[in-house]
Amino acid sequence: MSLSTSRQQFLAYESHAEQDIHYKRKGGVFISTCICICFVIFAALIASLVGIIVYYITYYKVSQQSDDFWNEAEPFRKSSKPSPDLRLPSIITPSFYRLKIKADLETSTFTGEVLITIRASKKTTEIILHSKNLSINENVTLTEQTYQNVPTSKFKREINATDIVATTEPTDSTVVNYNGTVSTVSIPTSEVNNVTLENDTIIPTLPSNAETTATTNVPVLETTMTSVKEVTLSNVRDIKLKNMEFSTGDRLILHLETPLTPNVDYTLHMAFHGEILNTLTGFYKSTYKEDNVDKQFGVTQFEPTSARAAFPCFDEPAFKAKFEISIAHRQNISVLSNMKIAAQEPIDSEPGWQWTHFDRSVQMSTYLVAYVLSDFKHLETSYISKDNVTKPIRVWARPSLIKNAKYALSIIPKILAFYEDVFGLPYALDKVDLVAIPDFSNGAMENWGLITFRETTLLYDEKEGVPRLKQHVAIDVAHELAHQWFGNLVTMKWWTDLWLNEGFATYIEYVGVNHITPEWNILESLTRDKMNLLKNDALKNTSPVSRQVVDASEISQKFDEISYNKGANLIRMLNHTISYELFRDALLLYLKKWKYQNAEENDLWDAMSEATKSDPSLKGLSVKEFMNSWTRQPGYPVVNVNRDYDTGYVTFQQELFRNSPELSKNKDLKWRIPISYTTMDVPTGNWSTKPKLWLNEKTLRPLLPVNQTQALYVNVDAIGYYRVNYDQRNWELLNAALESKTISSPITKAQLIDDAFNLAKAGRLNYSYALGLTTCVIDGEDSKIVWETLLDNIYYLMSNLRATSGYIYFQDYMKLLLKKQLEKVNYGLDKPKNDNEAFLIENLVVSECLVESSRCIKWTKDEFEKLIANPDSTDLPNYLRSLVYNMAIKHGGRREFELLWDLYLNATEPNTQHTILSNLPATRVESLITLLLEKSLTDIPNQSASILWAVDPPVGTKIAQEFLMERFDQVYEKFTKIDTFMFPIVLNSAFGNIATNADLDKLKRFALQNKEKLMPMSQTLQKIIDSAVLRINWIKKYSAGINEWLKQYVTENATHNHTNTTPAPTLTQNITINITPSTSPTSSPLLDI
Ligand SMILES: [Zn+2]
Repeated sequence: MSLSTSRQQFLAYESHAEQDIHYKRKGGVFISTCICICFVIFAALIASLVGIIVYYITYYKVSQQSDDFWNEAEPFRKSSKPSPDLRLPSIITPSFYRLKIKADLETSTFTGEVLITIRASKKTTEIILHSKNLSINENVTLTEQTYQNVPTSKFKREINATDIVATTEPTDSTVVNYNGTVSTVSIPTSEVNNVTLENDTIIPTLPSNAETTATTNVPVLETTMTSVKEVTLSNVRDIKLKNMEFSTGDRLILHLETPLTPNVDYTLHMAFHGEILNTLTGFYKSTYKEDNVDKQFGVTQFEPTSARAAFPCFDEPAFKAKFEISIAHRQNISVLSNMKIAAQEPIDSEPGWQWTHFDRSVQMSTYLVAYVLSDFKHLETSYISKDNVTKPIRVWARPSLIKNAKYALSIIPKILAFYEDVFGLPYALDKVDLVAIPDFSNGAMENWGLITFRETTLLYDEKEGVPRLKQHVAIDVAHELAHQWFGNLVTMKWWTDLWLNEGFATYIEYVGVNHITPEWNILESLTRDKMNLLKNDALKNTSPVSRQVVDASEISQKFDEISYNKGANLIRMLNHTISYELFRDALLLYLKKWKYQNAEENDLWDAMSEATKSDPSLKGLSVKEFMNSWTRQPGYPVVNVNRDYDTGYVTFQQELFRNSPELSKNKDLKWRIPISYTTMDVPTGNWSTKPKLWLNEKTLRPLLPVNQTQALYVNVDAIGYYRVNYDQRNWELLNAALESKTISSPITKAQLIDDAFNLAKAGRLNYSYALGLTTCVIDGEDSKIVWETLLDNIYYLMSNLRATSGYIYFQDYMKLLLKKQLEKVNYGLDKPKNDNEAFLIENLVVSECLVESSRCIKWTKDEFEKLIANPDSTDLPNYLRSLVYNMAIKHGGRREFELLWDLYLNATEPNTQHTILSNLPATRVESLITLLLEKSLTDIPNQSASILWAVDPPVGTKIAQEFLMERFDQVYEKFTKIDTFMFPIVLNSAFGNIATNADLDKLKRFALQNKEKLMPMSQTLQKIIDSAVLRINWIKKYSAGINEWLKQYVTENATHNHTNTTPAPTLTQNITINITPSTSPTSSPLLDI
């Protein structure tokens, strides 16, 4: 699965919710003065005592309650033990599903029948499987199947082609017909004899009610066979069911009268029906407009745990089985599934209906089963796979958009061919369909052979030609195709190792896109994403890549940036550590060994160890120990590098890196860190990302061949998943190299800037160093990764300084930084030279507009008016259109809002719709913000509803918070019904920018009040809280000093002519940012350098 682009990443914090304490008033009594005095004294004593007791009880109560919820280590205080209903018992395993579904989109209902072949590994009287929101007919049957081979010399087989009878998993010698029958068993080979066989071939049929032993017969179609050696007889015996029970964890428990015999096949038959829901999960339906007519389609989205809502099944990734699927549907729509269509036939009893039967699948997990019912059209191509088979590739979309499928269609064969080379195995199925779904939750889903996408991640409008959108398509297609090996062919054993699927697919997607479009330098984007992730992975409650799932809600929470991006970057680090050749050898070993099975991370490390044995330079490397130190511990380290300039010894010291120093204390974590290094005067062509040292203990003090004047650079190309901090003198040497343009690698520049800003944020480096490094772009910088990294870090300052008096200096400073490069690219008014320049320009102009330059405000206003007057005008480059909408909405009022809303209503192209919708929440008009939030509950397709919550702080977020708190039940109901991923987006949109303690307390009170409902989003909530605490402390600590630095810098440089000179202040000028003392002083020795 790939995440939706609207799935926002969360930023970070802590305090204690206040409790309302109520005292009850009591009545009085009349008594004498003396008694009264004594009593008063006595009462005073008692009162004091009571007061003290009440105080302590209250205090105790408050701290207990706060602690109960906001416990620092386990905020939602979840048990570390998995809940007992989380897993199915492993003693029963399915091997085959015969699934028949009759789907009626018009009545939004489906009926189904499933026969599951199961085996028990030991005696049991219980069969436990999954079923969710399904009505199961009571006549569940269970049949025991035994097989016996009988030699014979006569053969005659009989088939009734129209009689669709479900089957059990056949033996090797069984012939399965596409209509679902098993027609014969033993296939003759050599001797030639015209023989017939009477009544001795087998179809396991639905059992009768009586508990009998019987041999079943096959109806007629006489065939002449050449020879027969033996046939298999099957005995069928019914097992009586005592009762059926629906239990917690979506479990369906069947209690049997007699126990199952181990290692014997049983066929479990169930009929069921359910609703096709208007959600984005399970088997759901939605509509789209074509020529102003509403059209319906039905689609499945089963990952992670929704197959059980479509048919009763053993819905865990390790219960792989083969599937034979038939769908009954109206003849005016078509149906697709994982496998090729085997046969179609009308249903005589129901005119206008037909069965579509699909080939039997390969061994696969339930979450990969899929079917789509629609009237979509397709474009088709094919490729010849490694095993020399021509395999059709089809891209499907609604008829009016099918023209936009060309780009995807052009890249799929190239990516598949490349992956077959990388993985050494052909694509396993004999076709692949990719379908653009008009209403879809995630970016895309890798169902084997039937990959589903949002329209915006599969379709690309060549005419519009927005490079960013093209790149999104390439990335998502490459991701889902990578899953056809990593995920589908070899699957994680359990969701604990989801990262194996997602981390690998994410890494390989970049490698795949880099292969087909090297000019994008897409691997730079992987590095940039890593830098962004390092920020969130330094939050207080970040979690490890490989983490145990203890309850069902945690499964969907694992689809996060840690599983995807951290997983990808850890695998990349391993690749660079052992070399690409050995890495690929290991992949081949791993995939070959585990294909059609399930594996866990240590299985991958074993393959890597096996492959690295041959390399003497890796002798002694335990891949398992190395990688487990990264996947099983939360967060990551900073490597502190301190050089002894006289002796040449360099001390490398590792410690946990957190966004604030107090969070790193007393955390005795250790990583096995591959250390690559070079010096800045070495030409980049001679740099190597292979480690020269290993920092396995806390410290290491080698003698390095680096002289005093050389700048030492550690973690070459930012491949290692860690940050590096240097001593002051080395920082100055690095800065000098940056200033003198000795550093030509854009990644290195970006890495130094990113490390410096985040070390400063964590109190490990003075901010003047980080800000000083930014001036390296002031004379112009063409690299997009340098700008992206720089601007990402500066946006953090921007959002935090926005409410401070120094914000005006920040605005001026930004204008200074951007000026030269913006002039160089003529503010994006000329056609960009290539896609990378378009990405860069978009970023620069957006930044200029964010700090509200008068040029930008005027230009966007004019452009908006031109667009409204002539929507088809092509004067404005398409990639800047979103920005123009945004500024028009932000600086306009009701008129602009309504004009844009009308544009949305008239738009037919999904990317245009998305662009408009995502900019509407930028409005600052309170009533319009509320209007949008209301619309999110009613008027918007499910997939876009959460976009309307992407409001701007502070006005928008304040209104969103109030709206959410006041109408919590309604909002919660709406979004959690769609799927498990939507409500966390809403939460983050409303609360993700908290910058005051008052707002933080408000959030905590809200969370306490709705604790039960919010429990499944505990990780999102904790991220929001961690980042808010960080932000609040940051503002307190740094804003004054940074504002002062900016003021001084802007004042000194305002009069400079920037066209030819670089404004100066850098770290060498020794401007130090003063930090406002806080109650928790930082401990870093490097704080004040
Ligand atoms: Zn994925």
